[in-house]
Amino acid sequence: MPKISIIVPCYNEQEMIPLLYQALDDTASQLPDHEFEFILVDDGSKDATLSEIRTIARTDPRLRYISFSRNFGKEGAIYAGLKNASGDYAVIMDADLQDPPALLPDMVKAVEKEGYDSCATRRVTRAGEPPIRSFFARMFYKIMNKASEVDMVDGARDYRLMTRPFVNAILEMPEYNRFSKGIFGWVGYKTKWLEYENVERAAGETKWSFWKLLKYAISGIVSFTTVPLQFASAFGILFSLFAFIMIIVIIVRTCVYGDPVAGWPSTICVIMMIGGIQLLSIGILGQYLARTYLEVKDRPIYLCRESNFELLDERQNPIIYHDFSNEQGEEQK
Ligand code: UDP
Ligand code: MG
Repeated sequence: MPKISIIVPCYNEQEMIPLLYQALDDTASQLPDHEFEFILVDDGSKDATLSEIRTIARTDPRLRYISFSRNFGKEGAIYAGLKNASGDYAVIMDADLQDPPALLPDMVKAVEKEGYDSCATRRVTRAGEPPIRSFFARMFYKIMNKASEVDMVDGARDYRLMTRPFVNAILEMPEYNRFSKGIFGWVGYKTKWLEYENVERAAGETKWSFWKLLKYAISGIVSFTTVPLQFASAFGILFSLFAFIMIIVIIVRTCVYGDPVAGWPSTICVIMMIGGIQLLSIGILGQYLARTYLEVKDRPIYLCRESNFELLDERQNPIIYHDFSNEQGEEQK
């Protein structure tokens, strides 16, 4: 019987946990010829998410959880889940039920009957989203598809089902600056895309502010393309060429018409513009350098504080197995 691991990153999702569990349980019963494992990754939540998860984990052995020592971000949570999934297939799903679990039987069919390695989903509408956010999201996908070799689908969700080879391929990419949409595209394999209408969050609120998204987008661009660096070089060449021509023009003009002192405002403008472009280029360079620095330090992508199963990840050395039979778990050492 093939086993499906459903990985759910949870950050401050206390209202969602019972609803989520209900939905997962229902989905599991729709696929009776499959074994299930639910891996809930508590990404350092500050509310009662962890104790909600613990309560359910006590009643259902299929539910496994990993709780981080602090908030490491959704990417870290996805990585932790994949690293510790034991299933033949792994599914990544949001805790807020914006990723309809009802699609799961179709996703399983795509890999089992139609020979795909992965089945991903995309939203065809962005209803319920602020227009400015949709606009920047569209721009981002346009830029990414032009600038990088990775094929990125507009509206793609992280919600997808992967077969074991696909999961292993992703685990082969243990980079610190993780951008899953890019990583999924980069590894290749045959992916089927399912489309669905945007679903509003069932409870709680979005964890992504505009700035968080913008930083994430920049991280995506820097992780998957070096085109901005080429921009800097292109600017440099263009301006040197322009300056060279201008020098010749000025020398010729001075020889012919003499040397009246004029035009220093325009000189200042040119200096400022060149200065600006230089700073911009150094900034772009800095983005790459900063990421190289973080990558070289080779810090762990997440740290686990507590879990109810033995982690498979050998680098997460403090493997704590807590059996919190009393609710005051947090007070224990
Ligand atoms: N999430 C997380 N860590 C974070 C932010 C979000 O694990 O730092 C999880 C969150 O609990 C949810 C998923 O990532 O399961 C998607 O977050 P959200 O629904 O807020 O994003 P949106 O759907 O608005 O893009
Ligand atoms: Mg959501």
